[in-house]
Amino acid sequence: MKVVLIGVGQAGGKLTQRLAQYDQKMGFGAVQGALAVNSAKADLRELDLDTVLVGQDRVKGHGVGGDNELGAEVMQSDATEVMDALDGRITAQAEAIFVVAGLGGGTGSGGVPVLARELNRVYQVPVYGLGVLPGRGEGAMYQANAGRSLKTLVREADATLLIDNDAWHTSGESMGEAFEKINQNIAQRVGLLFASGEAVEGVGESVVDSSEVINTLRSGGIATLGFASAAAAESAEENVNAVTSMTRKALLSNLSLPNAIEADSGLLVVAGQPESIPRKGVERARKWVEQETGSLQVRGGDFPLDSDRLAALILLGGVERSERVEEFLERAKEASKQTEEPDEDPAEKFHNDQLDDLI
Ligand code: GDP
Repeated sequence: MKVVLIGVGQAGGKLTQRLAQYDQKMGFGAVQGALAVNSAKADLRELDLDTVLVGQDRVKGHGVGGDNELGAEVMQSDATEVMDALDGRITAQAEAIFVVAGLGGGTGSGGVPVLARELNRVYQVPVYGLGVLPGRGEGAMYQANAGRSLKTLVREADATLLIDNDAWHTSGESMGEAFEKINQNIAQRVGLLFASGEAVEGVGESVVDSSEVINTLRSGGIATLGFASAAAAESAEENVNAVTSMTRKALLSNLSLPNAIEADSGLLVVAGQPESIPRKGVERARKWVEQETGSLQVRGGDFPLDSDRLAALILLGGVERSERVEEFLERAKEASKQTEEPDEDPAEKFHNDQLDDLI
């Protein structure tokens, strides 16, 4: 699937860069263009991407702190500059646009829903969100920001792929180490998803194509991505069990939004050397995913990759009813109560309520 990526805020920019680098390193050619947008000049300077600085008149390049309402405002006022910078990057080949952000901060959290709406107005291709949820250990402001941002992003984007910062966290790691690992995991999984929708020369019919990724995301709402890999034996028959156990692992213990298993739709992609992928095993695993997710729309296919390992990638669409999402929204609501000012000035409240419609 040919994609254009727009990273907003610090996490958005870093992840976009990681995704672009992974795609290049693997030679997939799925990432057609990448742009980073931020209100903090220093964060943009660290990136090896084309960049747009927003909100210069309001925050002078210093960022919006954790104020996601201000993040939404500066994106709205400078939307034309961002759209101009994109012009020409969203070519006829682009099949989807991904807006990428950490939902708990300020610039990305507030800016990304605004940008998704603008993009949807102008472009025909689907606009997806790739959003990072704050881990449980992050403060109330992050939770509250992410709750509001998520609700708006789900409304404005065609679907929102969520990554939970607790998904791959092991105890004893510093925040920096944890981010590094999470970003690496995201780049690999999401990078493979983009690539799996790419046409591959000279390979049979069960190869996944972009429309299957798009159809899996068609129900809108929230999506999650699971992944697992295993060493491959040479012949397909010997790999039937490996495919089954990888698929179980990807779904049951390795989703980007853990335990968000109940889904409207799904896509199982098995990647590896074409002659080592057992068609029967893939079909059996696909049926198992249907049973587990309660969805009758689970697609399956393979992605030829020159590797001595096999990998299972599972994309689930429409997981917003899952306990994990409800639990997060509850956490965000509580945090919102904690962070609210007790005696709000009515004029300011009116202003804030208007902004509620925006972000
Ligand atoms: P912004 O620059 O104002 O948009 O704020 P950030 O991008 O720093 O967003 C803060 C949120 O993103 C917090 O919830 C952090 O946990 C998360 N975050 C920041 N940097 C990273 C990163 O490199 N990787 C991941 N996975 N999350 C990050």
